[in-house]
Amino acid sequence: MSSGIAGTATPTQIAEPILAALRAKIRGDLIQPGDPQYDSARKVYNGMIDKHPALIARCVDVADVIGAVNFARENRMTLAIRGGGHNGPGLGTCDHGVVADLSRMRGIRVDGASGSVRVDGGCVWGDVDHATHPFGMAVPCGFISTTGVGGLTLGGGIGYLTRRYGLTIDNLLGVDMVLADGRPITATEKENKDLFWAVRGGGGNFGVVTAFRFKMQPVSTVYGGPIFWPMEQAGHILKTWSKFILDAPEELNGWFGFVTVPPAPHFPQQYHGQKMCVITWCYTGDVKNGDRVLKPIREWSKPSMDFAGAIPFPALNSMFDAVYPPGLQWYWKADFFDTIDDRSIDLHLNYGAQLPTPHSTMHLYPIDGAAHRVGRKDTAFNYRNANFAGVIVGVDPEPANNERMIRWAKEYWTALHPYSAGGGYINMVMDEGEDLVKAAYGDNYTRLAKIKAKYDPENLFCVNQNIKPAR
Ligand SMILES: Cc1cc2nc3c(=O)[nH]c(=O)nc-3n(C[C@H](O)[C@H](O)[C@H](O)COP(=O)(O)OP(=O)(O)OC[C@H]3O[C@@H](n4cnc5c(N)ncnc54)[C@H](O)[C@@H]3O)c2cc1C
Repeated sequence: MSSGIAGTATPTQIAEPILAALRAKIRGDLIQPGDPQYDSARKVYNGMIDKHPALIARCVDVADVIGAVNFARENRMTLAIRGGGHNGPGLGTCDHGVVADLSRMRGIRVDGASGSVRVDGGCVWGDVDHATHPFGMAVPCGFISTTGVGGLTLGGGIGYLTRRYGLTIDNLLGVDMVLADGRPITATEKENKDLFWAVRGGGGNFGVVTAFRFKMQPVSTVYGGPIFWPMEQAGHILKTWSKFILDAPEELNGWFGFVTVPPAPHFPQQYHGQKMCVITWCYTGDVKNGDRVLKPIREWSKPSMDFAGAIPFPALNSMFDAVYPPGLQWYWKADFFDTIDDRSIDLHLNYGAQLPTPHSTMHLYPIDGAAHRVGRKDTAFNYRNANFAGVIVGVDPEPANNERMIRWAKEYWTALHPYSAGGGYINMVMDEGEDLVKAAYGDNYTRLAKIKAKYDPENLFCVNQNIKPAR
């Protein structure tokens, strides 16, 4: 894995004759230190990450990806693959090495007849929502539309449709990839089955995915949106929700969070800056029944603000994009949970009341329902029995607040961890090393390491939550 969070590297320059050979093979842009677009091209979503690659290859097609992979391998350079660039520890970039940047590979082809969609490896979820919505369909994705399809899918994919249709990987039909030796290859349930098993949760360890093929699900206008309650009610709401949601019909999803109400015009001024608890709902059954389904929830306790109603799925999925623009400082901690018991609720109330900055938050996502019907050995994603994925994130525009928000996130996580199922969703953690990766994959790690040894024995794809090749 690449070095530390904030890169202090002096940019490396690649000698011109070496670069000229690559230029002959690549149609996309090759961006180097000193080029006018270098500083914007090397930025990723998390403003805490400040890496200086020697070369950013903005690939436009599979041939470009093959060129970039071969170049890095032949010149013994670190290779990072950048999808949407949202990864917390910045695993879409590196110091000194080559970044295969897929952000120009954004083609999508919906196949209405087969109910599937082919999505290029550099797409973000907003691209997929945009392409599938006119067909009355969606692919199970995350809770925000600016996140990359690449990283989110390869790590598992938790979102609004998880309870009804499973994780994103449970809707993956196949991938086109470029392997470490530069070979293009397809992996499905029938072809290169071991690789297809591994990419469903095993991250970017096995190659560059140039295209994903997903099964689409019939999701169009849903009944959803956030309902806010005052902090004094948070214990009651969290306790009631954590029991209710596991018995609720799978058409209903709702994730719990602690937030600070932003000073935005659509929130009544009296609530600006207040800490609150929120559940963001998404009901994918008949929209006409939405009011009836949410009626008991609205009676748990009087909401302070209620924004739930009929809404096109792409609008719900992009509702929080503007709250979290690129460039903020992010520090992530994560755990899985089987239950949310009274002791952990007390801890949540304590730390939720201390959100260190207005953007900082804690979320609990239900991951039961359809996600439980896939066995823990059926894909690389190991925590199939857990009911909730939890994430604690310190977020702020100002680097000067990092120490304070990181301390809060670490203390919150440390206090809560004994009540967890262990592990931690690999897409929602920082660069915490091998023990965390092993804990996340549990029994599946040994099989992943063997598949890694088969497809990437030299660990060319090491800028990720790294699985070491079995020896
Ligand atoms: C604001 C925000 C909201 C989020 N919400 C959710 C959510 O709702 N649900 C959820 O499950 N996760 C969520 N995440 C976590 C997200 O899944 C991870 O950050 C993920 O790594 C992002 O993928 P990316 O392609 O944008 O990242 P990148 O930084 O581009 O890449 C992340 C990792 O994936 C690899 N990778 C990316 N694309 C490819 C590819 N095509 N082929 C091979 N390897 C590739 C990279 O090498 C790197 O190791 C969220 C993250 C953020 C910042």
